Amino acid sequence: MSHQIDEAVTAIVNAVVYPCDDAFSCHNPGSVVFSGGTITAVGPARDVDVPEDATVIDAGGRLAVLPGLLDVHSHSSLLKGYTENAQLIDWLPEYQREHQVLTPDDAYFGYLVSYMEALKGGTTTVMDMYRFPHRGAEAANALGMRAHLVPYAADHPTKHFFETLETSEQLIRDCHNTGDGRVKVWLGLEHITYCSGDMFRRVAELAGAYGVSIHTHTSEQREEVDVVVELFGDRPVHVFNEWGILRPGTVLAHCVWLDDAEIAVLAGTGTGVAHCPISNMKLAGGTAPLDRFRQQGVVVGLGTDGGTANNSMSMWECMKIGSLLQKVTRLDATAVSASEALRMATIDGARLLGIDDEVGSIEVGKQADLITVDLWQPHLLPVALAEGHDPILWNLVFAGRASDVRHVWVKGEPCVDDGEICRLDESEALAEIHARTVDLLSRREGVAAIPMVAE
Ligand SMILES: [Zn+2]
Repeated sequence: MSHQIDEAVTAIVNAVVYPCDDAFSCHNPGSVVFSGGTITAVGPARDVDVPEDATVIDAGGRLAVLPGLLDVHSHSSLLKGYTENAQLIDWLPEYQREHQVLTPDDAYFGYLVSYMEALKGGTTTVMDMYRFPHRGAEAANALGMRAHLVPYAADHPTKHFFETLETSEQLIRDCHNTGDGRVKVWLGLEHITYCSGDMFRRVAELAGAYGVSIHTHTSEQREEVDVVVELFGDRPVHVFNEWGILRPGTVLAHCVWLDDAEIAVLAGTGTGVAHCPISNMKLAGGTAPLDRFRQQGVVVGLGTDGGTANNSMSMWECMKIGSLLQKVTRLDATAVSASEALRMATIDGARLLGIDDEVGSIEVGKQADLITVDLWQPHLLPVALAEGHDPILWNLVFAGRASDVRHVWVKGEPCVDDGEICRLDESEALAEIHARTVDLLSRREGVAAIPMVAE
């Protein structure tokens, strides 16, 4: 056929469209047209001309259209449900037993199962800190999704199994901006207690040299901050600032226990926060101060923290639970509305990852990272507007499920159709993933955990 995919025009008509633009508009009924990977029209159905050669999806008022969701902090893995019911300080070394025996092939299937789950739930971009990240690029390309790969890097002698600065630099050379621009590479520092000050400074230099951004974890638990103050004589954000890693584009995961001075440093340096509400609840970390981040203008996106810390990669759960966590902690039922939660999962996530000129909202000229959600289900009705009030957005955020996602396009290319992954046979992939998991578990047997804060 001479008609190539990148010339195809697709129109979704008579849908409930939430573009997540500045005005946070809703077009109901609305239409979206995209061509060659780019959005060419969006608006009320009556204002959007549908080109004659378009493939038309008539939603009949039963599908919502949203920008693809962005999970801004995750860790792929084959293993979840094995390290449970433990405080972080005990959880981490137990979790890292996987890393002591992980092979590149294990990693590939860990990436694949995680990205399959994410994509089917409407996540089109994932920021992923994991091992053997070349294989992550491979998995992302196999599915057609966007991956921001962050090497799980450390230089403490007891963490010899992690990635190094050398492998990180090689990854930038090999994979940054590959996969038609869908794959990006970041520099990763696993944690301040097992990456040296030298490593932090070197990462700051490399980030400048290659024009890539920096990602690390911090201040997930109160006790962790105490350990850092004891070891380094200051709170983590101030130590990072001294080591030169805080700058526009740098993203810190968690940031639950920051004081006002630390938040001011984030705001002043243009550093953003990857907020992981479910992981923070499950590992009993605490509630991140989203209101204080917002007051100071710190950009915040939403992350799952991956299956190992969350058992789920659903951004739908993150939106709902993230909102509920703020409401109950602050005893304020108006904290984090549905639109604020959806904004964090879309355009704010894109801003955080530095790709908001390309994705994160449905606007003409942006890339067509789009999802549809089936509204015509018992748990998502009603869809009737009354007295100017729109219940759909509230029900999407507070009752929507990953399994409600029907279509996913990344850069205009179909990745999920009628809830099924387009580019691979799911049952074959799941059989391979299961076999590899059983094998990994047998190799992990008898491997002892190495304590988090090593002497
Ligand atoms: Zn994490």
